[in-house]
Amino acid sequence: MTSGLQEALQQIAADMADQGDRGAVADYIPQLSGIDPNLFAIAVATADGSLHYAGDSHTLFSLQSITKMFTLAIALGRSGDQLWTRVGREPSGNAFNSIVQLEQENGRPRNPFVNAGAIVITDEILAGRAPKDALAEILRFMRAAAESENIHINGSVAASEQAHGHRNFSLAHFLASCGNLKNPAELTLGTYFHQCAIEMNVQQLALAGRFLIGTGTGPRLVALPRVRRLNALMLTCGHYDGSGDFAFRVGLPAKSGVGGGILAIVPGVASIAVWSPGLDHNGNSKLGTLALEQLARAMDWSVF
Ligand code: GLU
Repeated sequence: MTSGLQEALQQIAADMADQGDRGAVADYIPQLSGIDPNLFAIAVATADGSLHYAGDSHTLFSLQSITKMFTLAIALGRSGDQLWTRVGREPSGNAFNSIVQLEQENGRPRNPFVNAGAIVITDEILAGRAPKDALAEILRFMRAAAESENIHINGSVAASEQAHGHRNFSLAHFLASCGNLKNPAELTLGTYFHQCAIEMNVQQLALAGRFLIGTGTGPRLVALPRVRRLNALMLTCGHYDGSGDFAFRVGLPAKSGVGGGILAIVPGVASIAVWSPGLDHNGNSKLGTLALEQLARAMDWSVF
C-alpha cells in the first residue's frame, strides 16, 4: 500500500510550489504572522517503519491546535471516560474560537478540539500542579511519540499569543463561571498557550502520529480501542467548521493547527504530516489540505 509513495510526495511538493493562491498566514498571533507563505513540507511515517518526506521537511513550525490531539490522549490516560462529563464529542459547526455555543450548552464545550474544549483538556492535565509540571508531561509524551528529545516550546510564540489572547481568556473565564475550570484561569491558559507553541518539523510530527495508526508501529502509548476513538474525533471535529468538507475531500481523520500544519492518519497504514502556513477561511492549511487530497487520491487512501 506504500509503493510509489516517495514519487507521489516529490510530485505533490513540486505541484504545491506552483500554486498561486496559498491562503493567508494567521496574524491574530503576531509572532506567527511573519512566516513565509511559500514554505511547504510533507512527511509520511508508514506502519512498516519507513519515513518518506519532501519539501522543507527540516523546518520547524508551530503545532498550535495539533497539540490538542496529544493532550486529549494524555487527559484520557489520566482521567478515563469521566473526562466526557466536562466536554462533548460533537462537531461544532462553529469557528475554532467561538464562544456562542458555550453559553447555549452551559459551559460544556462541544468537543476537545475547539479552543474551549482544548482549554478544558489542558485544565484536566494541569490538575492543581504547577504549569511547568503539566508542560513537562505533555513534552514527555510528544517526545516519546516522536522518539526525539529535540522537541521544544517556542517561548516567544507563547508570549505573543498570551499578550493577544483576549478571546481565549474570555472562553476560560466563561468556563470558570459555569464551574468547568478546576484551576485558576491564568494558570490553565498559561499552560495552554505554551502547549500550542510547541514546535516540530513534519518528519517529527509524522513519527509522533504513529501511535494513531493502530498497528503498534513506534512506541505503544495508547491502547487500540482508544486509538480508534481518537481517530473518530479527528474525523468528525479535527478541522473545526471545515470538518465535513475535509472528510469529503480527503477522507482521512486529521487534526489541523493555525500554524498551517495538519496531522492525518491512514488507519493501519500511515501517519502523515503536512505543513504550509497559509490558511483557508476556517483556519485550516489551504495547501496542506490540497496536498492531502492529492496524496489520498494518488495512494488510494481513504477510511471510506
Ligand atoms: N493557540 C491557538 C488559539 O488558541 C490554537 C488555534 C488553532 O491552532 O486552531 O487560538
